[in-house]
Amino acid sequence: MEFLKSERLNNLKYEIRGATYQKALELESMGYKIHNLNIGNPAPFGFDSPDEIVHDIIMNIRNAQGYSDSRGLFAARKAVMHYTQTVGIQEVEINDIFIGNGVSELILLSMQALLNPGDEILVPSPDYPLWTASIALSGGKPVHYLCDEQSDWNPDLADLESKITSRTKGIVLINPNNPTGAVYDKEVLTRMARIAEEHGLIIFSDEIYDKILFDGAVHHPMGSIVHDTLCVTYGGLSKNYRSAGFRGGWMILSGAKQKAKSYTEGLLLLASMRLCANVPTQYAIQTALGGYQSIKELVAPSGRLYKQMNLVYERLTSIPGVSCVKPKGALYVFPKIDMKKFGLKNDEKFVYDLLSDQKVLVVAGTGFNYVSDDHFRIVFLPTVDELNQAMDKLEYFLETRRVL
Ligand code: PLP
Repeated sequence: MEFLKSERLNNLKYEIRGATYQKALELESMGYKIHNLNIGNPAPFGFDSPDEIVHDIIMNIRNAQGYSDSRGLFAARKAVMHYTQTVGIQEVEINDIFIGNGVSELILLSMQALLNPGDEILVPSPDYPLWTASIALSGGKPVHYLCDEQSDWNPDLADLESKITSRTKGIVLINPNNPTGAVYDKEVLTRMARIAEEHGLIIFSDEIYDKILFDGAVHHPMGSIVHDTLCVTYGGLSKNYRSAGFRGGWMILSGAKQKAKSYTEGLLLLASMRLCANVPTQYAIQTALGGYQSIKELVAPSGRLYKQMNLVYERLTSIPGVSCVKPKGALYVFPKIDMKKFGLKNDEKFVYDLLSDQKVLVVAGTGFNYVSDDHFRIVFLPTVDELNQAMDKLEYFLETRRVL
């Protein structure tokens, strides 16, 4: 008898670590050097965690032997609360904050606490695919609204509004965005907030990249804009503080919390069932948020991350048949390929062939639930030298296939 996976998993996918990634691991085990432009994991590319974070975890390891409160250590939550005050998210109290093992855990937890079978959540297309997967795993129905490449990947609010039904319970937004690098205008966010308030929908605002901003882009926290409905904001250590392996994230409830007593009880029940988030990392949250924000140096025009972003953008846009919107934030570009010009079938085949032929690993746009199959995502974390090598190979791959 074969042991079968649960039927709940049948339609779930997470392509960032999917079949092409497995193929890359196989090639690596055969001795090939792979250019990994696929995962937003800063530390392996030499973007170390700030020393003070590492120091705090080491120094507190003995204090961190027991479970903590299920919502999280008081000092960590107090630091997140202070953060809400500095960015204009109003009236957040200590129990409105939950600490998790990364934002990932909190995304799943917040969907599981909310959804009944068939409930709908509006999710951007393209999205960070954990959102779509978590909604589906929780018995809900992810309904995708478009983000419009022609308007710098801002959400298409007419499309979003047209997809609201009596089953819709919430709207997810990711700002700054993975995979497009968009940072949304305040006006767009305000209109989105008003739509949610009017229809009684919860806003789930994933702001894990809120300090990774380029060229003067300004991030507007959704929690500072939403008043008449519940807003749940997500942030963490993985990206702004280059500490993805420490698994530290938080979730903030703001806005019309009085309408969400039952939901908050559900969140606490699920948080309690998993006892607590890992405690050593919680000790570093206060230092991270209150310490020196070294990310600013990396994203300034003279900074390493900025230079890498710019290089990838310039190299891509110099290839006739490839176009992309310049990222304003996060760690990614989401270029479009004119498939016909290169005789390519679709994004998945392109990504697979690029890996097989040139050992360059990127992720297909449809892996981010994007509606058309002619995009892919590049992570610009490797050094300028390595990115140049990978771009040479990508360019060679495309030029050898060019038909038009
Ligand atoms: N949200 C977005 C938009 C992400 O891109 C990622 C990771 O890439 C996460 C959440 C997960 O972050 P964490 O490491 O905190 O689980």
